Amino acid sequence: MITRTVEQIANMCGTVYRGKHSGLTVSGIMTDTRQEGSGELFVPLVGDRFDGHAFAEQAMHSGAKAMLWERGRPAPESIGDMPLILVKDTLAALQSLASSYRSELMVRVIAITGSNGKTTTKDMTAAALGHHYRVLKTEGNLNNHIGMPLTLLKLDEETEVAVLEMGMSGFGEIELLTRIAQPDAAIITNIGDAHLLQLGSREGIAKAKLEIALGLGEGGLLLYNGDEPLLHSGLKDMRLPDGIALRTFGLGRENDWSAGDISLEPFGSCFTASLQGEASSLGAVSIAVPGRHNISNALAAIAVARHFGVPGERIKEGFQSLKLTGMRIEPRRAANGAILLNDAYNANPTAMRAAIDLVGSLPGFRRRWIVLGDMLELGPLEAELHRQIGAYIGPDKAEAVLAYGPLAAHIVEGAAERMPEAAGDGLIRHFPDKGELAGWLLQQLLPEDLVLVKGSRGMRMEEIVEALERG
Ligand code: ATP
Ligand code: MG
Repeated sequence: MITRTVEQIANMCGTVYRGKHSGLTVSGIMTDTRQEGSGELFVPLVGDRFDGHAFAEQAMHSGAKAMLWERGRPAPESIGDMPLILVKDTLAALQSLASSYRSELMVRVIAITGSNGKTTTKDMTAAALGHHYRVLKTEGNLNNHIGMPLTLLKLDEETEVAVLEMGMSGFGEIELLTRIAQPDAAIITNIGDAHLLQLGSREGIAKAKLEIALGLGEGGLLLYNGDEPLLHSGLKDMRLPDGIALRTFGLGRENDWSAGDISLEPFGSCFTASLQGEASSLGAVSIAVPGRHNISNALAAIAVARHFGVPGERIKEGFQSLKLTGMRIEPRRAANGAILLNDAYNANPTAMRAAIDLVGSLPGFRRRWIVLGDMLELGPLEAELHRQIGAYIGPDKAEAVLAYGPLAAHIVEGAAERMPEAAGDGLIRHFPDKGELAGWLLQQLLPEDLVLVKGSRGMRMEEIVEALERG
């Protein structure tokens, strides 16, 4: 983590420190005083509902030795002669500190964005590089204008590669993040329909994700999902930095990096990766995460690892120790032995289709149950988007569809139209209550069954998984 003198930190924030502690060294950043020992430079952030400045004394007790401080605000007497670095805006200062620190390090930075699959691809990329380089990755999902700079400030002088997730909900946000992080390589996992409300159209979403290229410098690499036409067309309309290389990855054979000999299983997949139609040095690759979309994510990780010179064997070793952040198609077992795929972390139409396709690609079960909750924040088309998801589930993909939540009632409508027989057998049902749904399903479930559970974060669909595990 960052270790600098108070004077240096002030300069990195774009200001000058005039107090008497200029030579004092501080190590690490603290934004939340409840996390004792997290760092010695307290950065009081100001939000709609909170103001970090009010916690200065607590920060001191939690180990802060110096603080950023908004100019013009009186400092409480209780913090004594604590060195204060005066800035106009503490968040902007934090971002500029992170950006200066990144410029001072030799580290190579990989930035990842996309509508779906950012965290997964971040974990896969860190795994693919982790047996060859000293890697630091975004913890969990800290992908915004606060979390990403904080991740940069955790880098050590010894870190060789940083893998950063970048999230957004509107135009300009990814541009800000990528300009702070100055990546050497950037990945766009896919374009979905998350944040359709804020960005107006899927074209808008593609444009917002493509902003990630703006932080690349000479010799930088943009890797993007070539199966998405909007990324090709979006790139044509955009002025890219000079001297960057473009590469595509995806399941389509025409991509620079593509996959062949695919075999999908409930707990993972096996495939071969090729570069421009030639088999790569990796041979057969296996990943312990299911779904075709995860092969696409893994191709991005392989592509970037090869770009940084990681030998194929090391990449495969790295994949062996891959551990994903929870609830992303996490295989579990019901009390009676049936396989549960817990994908309750989040949902939007693209991710829903990817998960439904996964279930459709898994043969050999007596009955495949798709259990879905509402997809939130979809805007005025929400009812229709839910109906379309239902209609997407044909008899080739699943035998039963259960839904929970007011919007998910439209999923049931769509599914019942598409699968009248299953509807007639009572296998397409809406429940107003999660407990009732789980209870009913438990009565029907056999050990030879498969259950996918998915919905938006706010629906807490994992409670259904937990109920099925308990039996
Ligand atoms: P968030 O915006 O919440 O940070 P994220 O982009 O980090 O999400 P992940 O957490 O990696 O995404 O995955 C969320 C879900 O998206 C997965 O459970 C899966 O269903 C789906 N998903 C993952 N990768 C892809 C992909 N390449 N294409 C479509 N759907 C995907
Ligand atoms: Mg994420």
